[in-house]
Amino acid sequence: MTDIQNDMDSRVDELLQEIKHELARARAKFPGDDVTMLALMEEVGELAKAAFEEPRTNVRAEAVQVAVMAMRVALDGDGTLTAWRKQKGLDPLVRADA
Ligand SMILES: [Mg+2]
Repeated sequence: MTDIQNDMDSRVDELLQEIKHELARARAKFPGDDVTMLALMEEVGELAKAAFEEPRTNVRAEAVQVAVMAMRVALDGDGTLTAWRKQKGLDPLVRADA
């Protein structure tokens, strides 16, 4: 593996650690599956605002929060969408046994 690949792997590992840490923090602070999709959209807006107006560190922090909320949609689902999805004949966002 080249030095460039090693550096990239290291940067990816560091970012994944940040995301995992933020995921645990967010789940502890706001447990459950309430409005996770809306919270994801809120974080996307905050990322856009940071990218236009704020320092790089804030942009990175908001990007991490976007990743975390996308993960929460995948891991926890969004209870506010359950009835709507059922009405459309769609399955729940997460399995009942997940
Ligand atoms: Mg944010």
